[in-house]
Amino acid sequence: MSYHLVWFKRDLRLHDHAALHAASRRGPVLALYIVEPGLWQQPDAARQHYEFVRESLADLQRELQAHGGQLLVLQGEATEVLTRLWHEQLAAPFASLYSHEETGNGWTYARDRAVAHWCRAHGVPWQELPQFGVVRALRNRDHWQGAWEELMGAPVLDTPALRFAPLPCASEPLPPSSALGLDPHDPPRRQRGGRARGLAVLRSFLDERARHYRGGISSPLSAPTACSRLSAYLAWGCLSLREVVQATRERTAFSEDPRLKAGLHAFQSRLYWHCHFIQKLESEPAIEFENMHRGYDGLREDDFDAAHFEALSTGRTGWPLVDACVTMLRETGWLNFRMRAMLVSVAAYPLWLHWRPVGEWLATQFLDYEPGIHWSQLQMQSGTTGINTTRVYNPVKQALDHDPQGRFVRQWLPALRRVPDSWLLEPWRMPASVQDACGVRIGQEWPQPLVELEAATRAAKQRLYERRGQSSVRAAKAGIVQKHGSRRRPEGTTKRAAPAAPDRQLSLDW
Ligand SMILES: Cc1cc2nc3c(=O)[nH]c(=O)nc-3n(C[C@H](O)[C@H](O)[C@H](O)COP(=O)(O)OP(=O)(O)OC[C@H]3O[C@@H](n4cnc5c(N)ncnc54)[C@H](O)[C@@H]3O)c2cc1C
Repeated sequence: MSYHLVWFKRDLRLHDHAALHAASRRGPVLALYIVEPGLWQQPDAARQHYEFVRESLADLQRELQAHGGQLLVLQGEATEVLTRLWHEQLAAPFASLYSHEETGNGWTYARDRAVAHWCRAHGVPWQELPQFGVVRALRNRDHWQGAWEELMGAPVLDTPALRFAPLPCASEPLPPSSALGLDPHDPPRRQRGGRARGLAVLRSFLDERARHYRGGISSPLSAPTACSRLSAYLAWGCLSLREVVQATRERTAFSEDPRLKAGLHAFQSRLYWHCHFIQKLESEPAIEFENMHRGYDGLREDDFDAAHFEALSTGRTGWPLVDACVTMLRETGWLNFRMRAMLVSVAAYPLWLHWRPVGEWLATQFLDYEPGIHWSQLQMQSGTTGINTTRVYNPVKQALDHDPQGRFVRQWLPALRRVPDSWLLEPWRMPASVQDACGVRIGQEWPQPLVELEAATRAAKQRLYERRGQSSVRAAKAGIVQKHGSRRRPEGTTKRAAPAAPDRQLSLDW
């Protein structure tokens, strides 16, 4: 019996799954997940991602069983596994391959090209269907908003009636993360994977937590509950973006609570930005490795200070808010937008670190690592896109604005708990007598800041502005705006149809 192979990647659900839907209309399906050792060996992969995937696969397996099916798990590189399945066929080979359109990292891009080649060589049509509002082979951004709205406004696809092909071979157990060579660290307080958990997080946000979204998302103290916390469930596909968009719109329309409505409106803009940023990597995969504006090449590359990077990534910069964020990240796998932006800004300006190693490290720390958002944001916060306003976050000012009593700092940095309030956010300024009295001596119990913040930041901005001022750098900007920049809302469209332009809005509001 011929069947249609549905390859699950970062789309670990049955609901609103376009590829599964399309395959099921053609005949019996076989649901496949491939544990690809090459993928998990990439520098942006982490054990927490793999564990989250394992938890999500357990949910997926339960859902498939409820529909009378099974998930086939096989280990190997994708083309090897396809070849094995091709030869393990019972009566007839699979007739076609279905999956979502993945905007992944350079490794998945190359793997997908190899799979496309394999499919052509074996005469197997491969249907890739979008799961986000991201357009493949987009010519320019002019009509992008309309395309996003069209996909997000189309009906959500219920899990279809499924007929399953018998498994052509036995499923393999999911290997432990150590067998894939992953670093053993797994944040003990991270979110757990799976669609059931994702739906519960969505429900609690739409019903109540969104009331605190406006005004609550900037401080690292309130953000963990005020933000939706849906990012990991979107990144690994436990929830579909469209179902979240539509559930949010429905809740907004039927709620009479003005605070909730305001929060949900602001949240909807982020769902749009989600795809806006992924589109950048889809349109230009090189931005994972190269400056979006090539005029910034050579700016930081040769100055990489390994000791600065080491101090940053182990939470020992000496700036309390920075080190508290790094500690929280290691413990939970999550940080809010403002604190992520601040970490990158500190890396890029006073520490003058190139974004690529910083981005690799943060990719492993963020449970919700989504390459398109991640690399676009890394570049944006490092000033190498050439099209965004430079935002430099001063970690002392951020602490004064968003953690004035130092509650967040004390929560994550036990070493500073006994420092008096007035010195907590700048402990290096403590007089020696206060250091002795509280038992926190700078250079011993707490590090001296790596650099003098104001002077180092000023020097960094100066170097960036010099580069930006060069005529060739200015001249190349228009082409980047044309390719990646958000467009003003087209005339005649409603606010809902076209949320505010994220590139501009980010520079103004965040
Ligand atoms: C340097 C840096 C790296 C980042 N890397 C990632 C990443 O790998 N994966 C990721 O999902 N987000 C990333 N973000 C964006 C943002 O910080 C997270 O989406 C957000 O903190 C996730 O928490 P949440 O789901 O509670 O957010 P909410 O505020 O509730 O937002 C809802 C959803 O909207 C999307 N979103 C929110 N803010 C942004 C934004 N600024 N740009 C694009 N999409 C957004 C996300 O999908 C998010 O889940 C990054 C931001 C920065 C500054």
